Amino acid sequence: MGTECGARERLVEVRHAITRATLEAGRAEDAVTLVAVSKTFMADEIAPVLEAGQRVFGENRVQEAKTKWPGLRERFAGVELHLIGPLQSNKAREAVQLFDVIETVDRDSLAEELAKEIPREMAKTGRAPRLLVQVNTGEEPQKAGLAPHEVDAFLGACRDRWKLQVEGLMCIPPADQPPSPHFALLRVIAQRNGLKTLSMGMSADFEEAIQLGATHVRVGSAIFGHRG
Ligand SMILES: *Cc1c(COP(=O)(O)O)cnc(C)c1O
Repeated sequence: MGTECGARERLVEVRHAITRATLEAGRAEDAVTLVAVSKTFMADEIAPVLEAGQRVFGENRVQEAKTKWPGLRERFAGVELHLIGPLQSNKAREAVQLFDVIETVDRDSLAEELAKEIPREMAKTGRAPRLLVQVNTGEEPQKAGLAPHEVDAFLGACRDRWKLQVEGLMCIPPADQPPSPHFALLRVIAQRNGLKTLSMGMSADFEEAIQLGATHVRVGSAIFGHRG
C-alpha cells in the first residue's frame, strides 16, 4: 500500500532505538524483544514488515487476528503472535489455538478456562501459548488487569490451583501520567515473584521501559503509522 511504504524504514529506526536504549542501560544487546503491534492494519500492510525480517507481532482482538494471521503464517515461517488485548473466557479456545503468547491473563474465570484449553491444545498439537499476567498498575477502573496488591495471590493460584505456568507480567500505564513509576512497580512485582518477562513500553515510552528492565516492548504506531 502506497502510504505504508515507510513501515520498513520506521522498523529499522525503532530497532536502532531499541538497541541504543538496551546498550545504554548496560544490558545485553539481545535482552529486549520487539513486539510489532499490527492491530487495525491489513495483511498487505503487515507483509512488508515481515519481509523486512520482523517475526514477533501483537494483536488485540482474537477475531481480527483470526482473519489476518493464518494466511500470513503460510507465507512467512517463524511468526510469533502475542495477544495484547482483553480475552473473553468464551474465546479462550480460539486464543490458545491462534496465539503463541497471551499477555492479558487477569482473572480467575480466564485462568480456569485456560487450564482446560491449554492441556487440550498440548495433547493435540504439542504446542501451547506462554502466559503473562496483566497488571493494572494505575488501578484505573476502565482498564483490564489485576490491581498490584492482587497479583501475588493470583500467581499463586495459577501455579497451585490451575497448574498454569506464568512467565511474566504486562502493563499499560495510565495515558496521563509519567510511565516510569509504573514500569518500576511492574519490575518490583515480577522480581518478588521470580518472573523474568516484562512486557512494558509502547511507541511513546519504550526507551524508558527498556531502562527499567522491559524484556518486551509493544510498538505499533512508530512502525505502522497512525491508526485510522
Ligand atoms: C495498541 C497497543 C500498543 C501499541 O501502541 P502504540 O502507541 O501504537 O505503540 C501496545 N500495547 C497495547 C496493549 C496496545 O493495545
